[in-house]
Amino acid sequence: MSKDYDPQMHTAEHVLNQSMVRLLGCGRCFSSHLNPGKSKCDYHFARDLTPEEAAGLEKQVNKILAQDLPVREEMIPRRQAEKLVNLSKLPASVGPDEPIRIVRVGDYDICPCIGAHVERTGQVGSFRLVSHGLLEGQEPPVLRLRFRIE
Ligand SMILES: [Zn+2]
Repeated sequence: MSKDYDPQMHTAEHVLNQSMVRLLGCGRCFSSHLNPGKSKCDYHFARDLTPEEAAGLEKQVNKILAQDLPVREEMIPRRQAEKLVNLSKLPASVGPDEPIRIVRVGDYDICPCIGAHVERTGQVGSFRLVSHGLLEGQEPPVLRLRFRIE
């Protein structure tokens, strides 16, 4: 994941990813391009979303944002962090006692992250899923979601 984000957009990305995990059994996005206007996240997913799924996803993200959950960052040693989150992208050279930055969105989401976040999800605004669809010619298939914050 890239490091330069808009904190609001990026916090929305955390909530979106966890919502994809919970609602669609999908992994978190493997690639994202965030900008203040419109952002996109790419997922390994075998098909496009149905209109109902897309509407449900947008509704779920907005429900969590509206709960005004605290966003907390903490540093914990790798050996402890790997029991909580997937650290497969972390280089093997990071030793067991080296600190990893873990970000929690209330009790909804937890993941390792070095980005900038808002303090509470209520500061994000409202999430709009602009479009969704499979990218052409990708194997394994890639589902791209575009969204904005209003
Ligand atoms: Zn983050």
